[in-house]
Amino acid sequence: MIFESIKKRIKKASEIMNLSDREISVLLEHRQINNSILNLTGREYPAWRIIHNNSLGPGKGGIRFHKDVDEDEVKALSFWMSIKNSLVGLPYGGAKGGIRINPKELSENEIEKISREYIRKFHENLGENKDIPAPDVYTNERIMAWMLDEYEKINNKKEPAMITGKPLSLGGISLRKDATSRGGFIILKNFLEKMNKSKKLKTAIQGFGNAGMNIAKMMYDEGFDIVAVSDSKGGIYGKLDIEEIIRKKQQGGKVEDYEKKVNKITNQEILELDVDILILAALENQITKDNAEKIKARYIVELANGPINPEADEILIKNNITVLPDILANSGGVVVSYFEWSQNKTGNILEEDFLKSKFEKIMIGNFNKVYELSKEKKLDLRNSCYIIAIKRILEAEKARGSL
Ligand code: NAD
Repeated sequence: MIFESIKKRIKKASEIMNLSDREISVLLEHRQINNSILNLTGREYPAWRIIHNNSLGPGKGGIRFHKDVDEDEVKALSFWMSIKNSLVGLPYGGAKGGIRINPKELSENEIEKISREYIRKFHENLGENKDIPAPDVYTNERIMAWMLDEYEKINNKKEPAMITGKPLSLGGISLRKDATSRGGFIILKNFLEKMNKSKKLKTAIQGFGNAGMNIAKMMYDEGFDIVAVSDSKGGIYGKLDIEEIIRKKQQGGKVEDYEKKVNKITNQEILELDVDILILAALENQITKDNAEKIKARYIVELANGPINPEADEILIKNNITVLPDILANSGGVVVSYFEWSQNKTGNILEEDFLKSKFEKIMIGNFNKVYELSKEKKLDLRNSCYIIAIKRILEAEKARGSL
């Protein structure tokens, strides 16, 4: 149960911050839990849209299509969005959605139908000032476009800011495509600078979708030694030509289709390789108390949400392994979503160069804030992130008179 593990993280942060029981219960409360059953040619698919805390602004968070999604997972993901949006200073609360469906088994036409059905079920709770979805695992700009179109048809008005991660033609922005990876990479580079480390470090990347593939390309281009990558089918280890692997993936293949001489490894083995940096860019709960002792990487970047659970946190800290936590390392996506949303709301289109430098400033500023607090309080980076984020949420709750 992922949400149970979140409670442990809040408990830890609340001890450091000396929070009252009332403050803790406000932090653990979900404001809106909507669920429904979507029908597609006689089959039924459970679906959710959940807002965790919205004291800072409208809900914001992606929609995931995955065969294992359940309410507990969407609750956890919406919680992380509250913490992330608060940490990085955005005017948003946290939300998330999901459909328990295996998109790999559906045609494009069926995916369009289910995406539109999702909006028909949840549209009353969505909107640019209520709750703003975006892509997540196995959803993309095409799906965002169908969802926006359905929403606008139901409401008989244009409202592009109701969803982000859209195609450029519908008000999306080009920075969005690799924003999560770009943000993670900026944070990693700044961290390595503080550690006085060169860039030739050996790196393994678990997950080779949007987040994993893009950071692989950025790191490869800057001279990092990427020795292993994996996707849901398995991984490869050896001398890798990342551009070639990306080409295979983009043609609909898997990383194992790479033809040069490499070793095949499993998704568990990739985690335990003797590397300097491990990038987690797949799904939750990859490092637990069962394998944490076997991790050899010195630095871990969580591009995925929740890939390390709290019991594993303790073990990694004990073994001197530094984790750049999800809520900071993967916050680039939502920062760019914020640019998209504000452009759509104001109609004021900003230049890409301006946005790029603003993006970099925000990512570095947030990293420095967290890093300095961790030094000052002698805390790991994750707890430092939680303290900054929780403080801002509780201030908003107090300002509203609800605390
Ligand atoms: P994606 O659907 O593009 O890619 C997911 C990748 O993970 C695929 O390559 C898939 O094959 C692989 N995968 C699935 N199960 C796996 C397993 N057990 N072991 C190894 N690989 C596995 O999704 P994405 O957008 O890249 O998201 C990946 C993670 O990053 C998710 O946790 C997501 O919540 C998080 N994230 C993504 C964004 C974004 O903007 N894309 C933003 C914030 C967080």
